[in-house]
Amino acid sequence: MQSAPAPQPGIMEIALYQGGASKVEGVEDVLKLSSNENPHGAPESAQAAAREAAAAMHLYPPTDHAGLRAAIAEVHDLDPDRIICGVGSDEVLHWLCQAYAGPGDEVLHTTHGFLMYPISARAAGATPVAAPERDRHVDVDALLQRAGDRTKLCFIANPANPTGTLIGGQDIVRLADGLPDGCLLVLDGAYAEFAEDYDGGLGLAGARENVFCTRTFSKMYGLGGLRVGWGYGPQPVIDVLNRIRGPFNLSNVALAAAEAAMRDRAFVARCLEDNRIQRDRLTRGLRALGLACDSSAANFVLARFADAEAAVACDAALRARGVIVRHVAGYGLPDCLRITVGDAAGVDRVLEGVAAWAQA
Ligand SMILES: *Cc1c(COP(=O)(O)O)cnc(C)c1O
Repeated sequence: MQSAPAPQPGIMEIALYQGGASKVEGVEDVLKLSSNENPHGAPESAQAAAREAAAAMHLYPPTDHAGLRAAIAEVHDLDPDRIICGVGSDEVLHWLCQAYAGPGDEVLHTTHGFLMYPISARAAGATPVAAPERDRHVDVDALLQRAGDRTKLCFIANPANPTGTLIGGQDIVRLADGLPDGCLLVLDGAYAEFAEDYDGGLGLAGARENVFCTRTFSKMYGLGGLRVGWGYGPQPVIDVLNRIRGPFNLSNVALAAAEAAMRDRAFVARCLEDNRIQRDRLTRGLRALGLACDSSAANFVLARFADAEAAVACDAALRARGVIVRHVAGYGLPDCLRITVGDAAGVDRVLEGVAAWAQA
């Protein structure tokens, strides 16, 4: 009998992505704070739009995403022709690797960077290269030191996941200025909506040939289950990505819900304000319990423990109480737990659980 074909180089080196857990054996009232989802759920406006669109599920969706791109362009004051929508921003990151990086090329990211960067790089046959961070912040000098002729893409998330830290606009410009010719800087703005006084790099991506931004509906907009993200950048890059985008990549339901969510500015304003208040409570509460936390610009907080053993023990203690957070050993931070900012009751439950563990 013939054997199965061998996969493309790089694919078998991919470590499978582990999603945040959502169940605890024997516990009914589970609080999932492991995937940075919106504790307030999806906006009512998006749920209504999704129900209405579902009635037309026998029809193919539009391939140009004109309605959603127009809504994004209006809200963010962008050129709609330079927006591309994907199945989560994950798909947009994937297209970038597929289009720009192949065998022999390098894709630069940071040591504690989002795990999808090396996964997408390897899927394209390229080599991921990790630059160290400085005190859990993206280090522009370390990235520039590792950038060379073979570097085709440089990914940073700002605010970063899982650290929650933000670097300033001047550092980003310095990075964009210092990268080699023909290398695209990708600013992953999955948490940009939560940061104050930061446009997610949209201004830079509108003005430069070598900067591209990605955004998502999965975090602030509460639509993680529908899978919608978008990218914005130089027209030549958009034209390249559109050639590899599946023509019907987003469903009617996803398009309708995302458009309604984008236009629901009151929902976004409420979530932003509540996140700011609860993130502050969570950060101060954890610090008061003796844990170190950087100031987060996102919708989660990274709690640092004395060592990996303590982080594992606290994770288990929280889980026994039905609270699921993320031990981020896979991100090179074995002594840390990443905790999504919940609503007021959720933050109470985390702090009670950590306090009980600390006193045990
Ligand atoms: C959650 C997240 C994304 C978004 O992924 P989607 O595919 O849009 O759901 C992208 N980048 C980072 C760093 C994230 O944490």
